[in-house]
Amino acid sequence: MALITAEQFRESIKDDGREFYCSGELVKDFATHPIAKDLLDYTAMDYEMALDPKYHELLTEALPDGERVHFTFVAPKTKEDLIRRRKVIQTTMHVSGGPGGAKFTGIDGLNGLHLACSRIDRQMGTEYSDRVAKYRRYLMDIDAAIAVAMTDVKGNRTSHPHQQKGHQDYYVRMVSKGNDGIVVRGAKAHISFAPTSHELVVLPCRAMTPGDGDYAIAFATPTNAKGVKMIGRSDPIVVFDDVFVPMDRVFLMGEWQYAHEMPYSFATYHRLSADTYKYAELEIHVGLAALLAEYNGLEKVGHVREKLAWLVMYAEGTEALGKAAVENCEYDESGTPYPNTLYSNVAKFFFASNYYTAEQHLQDIAGGLVSTLPAMADLKNPATREYLLKYLGTGDICDAEDRMKAFRLAQRMCDHVSGNITVHAEGSMAAQKIMLYAVADWERYKAYAKHAAGIHSDHPAVRDIPPHRLMLV
Ligand SMILES: Cc1cc2nc3c(=O)[nH]c(=O)nc-3n(C[C@H](O)[C@H](O)[C@H](O)COP(=O)(O)OP(=O)(O)OC[C@H]3O[C@@H](n4cnc5c(N)ncnc54)[C@H](O)[C@@H]3O)c2cc1C
Repeated sequence: MALITAEQFRESIKDDGREFYCSGELVKDFATHPIAKDLLDYTAMDYEMALDPKYHELLTEALPDGERVHFTFVAPKTKEDLIRRRKVIQTTMHVSGGPGGAKFTGIDGLNGLHLACSRIDRQMGTEYSDRVAKYRRYLMDIDAAIAVAMTDVKGNRTSHPHQQKGHQDYYVRMVSKGNDGIVVRGAKAHISFAPTSHELVVLPCRAMTPGDGDYAIAFATPTNAKGVKMIGRSDPIVVFDDVFVPMDRVFLMGEWQYAHEMPYSFATYHRLSADTYKYAELEIHVGLAALLAEYNGLEKVGHVREKLAWLVMYAEGTEALGKAAVENCEYDESGTPYPNTLYSNVAKFFFASNYYTAEQHLQDIAGGLVSTLPAMADLKNPATREYLLKYLGTGDICDAEDRMKAFRLAQRMCDHVSGNITVHAEGSMAAQKIMLYAVADWERYKAYAKHAAGIHSDHPAVRDIPPHRLMLV
């Protein structure tokens, strides 16, 4: 049963033990709860799409034995697999309006785990990769909806996990271990689509120090395991209240020196995914700004054209960086491809740091109705409909109803969540700068500077080229 239907998926979420607390109550029936239902419907779309003949080829893959599974579960082996992953995400964006609820962040977690564990195994002689491979096979078999829980609640941000004051559980930690498994306690924050997932991949979120051994853990758990409690909405806090994890689902257990491998590997895949879905969002953003310029009769105005051109630069720059990250992907020693670390971090930083300018341009072109738009229900009310039709259109350019719909979309695109997601989801901007600093080829940059300045360098990039003349005249 490697591909399940949307209906089978909905049934599978009615399992025992799932504890999702939302708006002050335990959700008993996802299908009727106002918030959980939206989440369930959205996640179910991934299953609908995979069996839809229009998307089946793209979204599913035949294994060597002929069995068809969701493409995202297959470990990437080539650059083309990364390119296809981008196509999967952007197609899902176009069809469902989001990057997918069942197989998005969690897949990047799984691939990050694969990459990190193979590095750790090579250096430590451990056998975590075998466990990851078996876990991957299990996910394929149940056609799992999977989330990643990496971001700890963290307490005081500048203290290491074992240095926290008040209590010792600001980072998820191992409270006991036996031959059969470990017991974990702590909480992870902002875990997208956890409530409608079958499985959680749990990773450490930072580099650790010698005192942090108990916090250097990675594992997987079903979301309905005893002690897992989710509190919030679509991206809840996930509490691990002494959850037992069997040993075959433990992927790091105390090797604090390697804890950083997990978030770094995950982030490398996930920042590319972010850039990929962001472009599909930005296409709408640019299109909406142009549409509102048209609906307001502003298309030929100089400052508006300038802003539209900037928006095109922003959107296409984001896409170009995403493409560059896969076209120039890297391979680890086991041959596993991963997005170019430098480019995927530049991509994330580029779109996050420019986001509020993009929002400003959209709002500037649109006007104040982004804040004050009457409700669409007022357009249906016979007492107000005629007034809105008369006053909110723009003569022969567009009617009021279409213009109101465009403004409604602008309201949603500029809501309080969009900017925060852009800045923080997939890691705060400081995290990208840390990665950029860490992986930049400083010696090469310096060699070119030396060469231009006429300073001797033996760096292979410059040692065989003649002195730089133009820069010195
Ligand atoms: C919509 C959304 C969805 C998300 N989905 C997921 C998900 O599915 N799974 C998941 O694991 N995570 C998820 N995240 C979490 C996301 O990765 C984090 O929000 C991000 O890494 C920032 O962490 P934080 O929210 O704890 O903020 P903080 O880390 O507290 O950031 C606040 C500020 O503190 C700075 N800071 C933090 N620590 C330090 C330090 N030690 N030294 C100096 N400065 C520091 C940061 O750079 C930033 O400027 C999601 C976030 C959002 C907003």
